[in-house]
Amino acid sequence: MSPMPEIRGWCPTAYRPMESGDGLLIRAKTIGPRIDAIRLNAIAHIAKSYGNGLIDLTQRAQLQIRGVQQSTLKDALDALDAAGLLPANADVERITNILAPPLAGLDSTSAFDASALVTDLAAALAQDVALYALPAKFLFAVTDDGALPIDASEADISFHPAAERRIALRLAGVDDAAVIVAPGEAVAAALRLAKAFIELRAASPFDLRRMRKLIAATGVAPVIARAGVTLSAVPPLMANRPSNHLGVQDLNEIIFAGVSAPSGRWRAQELAILAEAAAAHGLGEVRLTPWRAILIPAPHRDAAAKIITQAAASGLIVASDDPRRSIVACPGAPECLQAQGETRIHLERLAPLARQYAGKDGIGLHISGCGKGCARQGATPITLVLADGHFNLVVNGGAQDTPISAGLALDEIEPSLTHNVRNMAPCAAN
Ligand code: SF4
Repeated sequence: MSPMPEIRGWCPTAYRPMESGDGLLIRAKTIGPRIDAIRLNAIAHIAKSYGNGLIDLTQRAQLQIRGVQQSTLKDALDALDAAGLLPANADVERITNILAPPLAGLDSTSAFDASALVTDLAAALAQDVALYALPAKFLFAVTDDGALPIDASEADISFHPAAERRIALRLAGVDDAAVIVAPGEAVAAALRLAKAFIELRAASPFDLRRMRKLIAATGVAPVIARAGVTLSAVPPLMANRPSNHLGVQDLNEIIFAGVSAPSGRWRAQELAILAEAAAAHGLGEVRLTPWRAILIPAPHRDAAAKIITQAAASGLIVASDDPRRSIVACPGAPECLQAQGETRIHLERLAPLARQYAGKDGIGLHISGCGKGCARQGATPITLVLADGHFNLVVNGGAQDTPISAGLALDEIEPSLTHNVRNMAPCAAN
């Protein structure tokens, strides 16, 4: 029987590294999706020199350096600081969680400049110490109706284009109403809503760390009243799935090379190659995405093609139909202390199976190192949950659901699926 996983409720930062099975995990915090080639190269260097050479790209589009040791931590932080990647203090780093479209600021067809709004929001968060009480997972998101929209559904407060060039501030847990404001008022209104959350949360007997939970407990009216704003009816948000962004792409006349790594796990050398390619053939920068991919803007298609050739030669994923794209896996052992076995060593072997069962979102298989299911919330056609080094097989469910077979060896997964597959209904998540 697997032990119940520990839910930490916070993300690693540079000031507060997270202990992991392969050492300390530190985040190289970036504000918005853009990171220039020099800083990307610096992160690769830090990972190689002071960590174990592995870097994760998270679902919040942040890079995390793995395997830092207590003996190398100070050097790693000094190097982050020298690269301009260390926020002013631990509070600022912890609360500055802003998700934005990867092409923010590049897309002239978008409703507004999301990158400018992200910059303003980050600056305002840093300046107001009252906001330092926000929980570590509290997330802002900015959407701009541009070429590669993000899914803002996980955000506590999100910014969206509204009619007449205004901005709609949506709150998690409220689907049919938003606070509509002029662009120049959007950041201040969002921060009033965040402060209302802090005050109402403090008054609650429960530990409510997300806006959705607070609104489920109190309703939206106290939040709105305390923030001094008004709600207007808006249509529910449509779910956003990212369009193809791998390989050479030309979206709204923005040309870029899209590259991914299996389960968002990058080696330092791969990031160094992308940084070099961005400087040599691109516009000197890359864009981080919440989809395990890095986009390298380029001046023309030939330049983007050169970047793709270099990335493919390094073993990176450069096409959306690569079978490795159909698997999601958490770090597993030895990196996660709660893991019941290794996860990512099985990616190549299980990729064809994942492809075969892939749902509409392209994902067919989720490998989870324990029942917590960190890598993917919700249902997947096939979920493999490690328990004492063996696999529990869940069909059309998540890591916490009841398996149809338990204690499987790697070789027994396909036969078990074949035996049970005639009972598989289409996955609700797809
Ligand atoms: S799901 Fe994976 S990453 Fe999350 S706690 Fe379990 S083993 Fe660790």
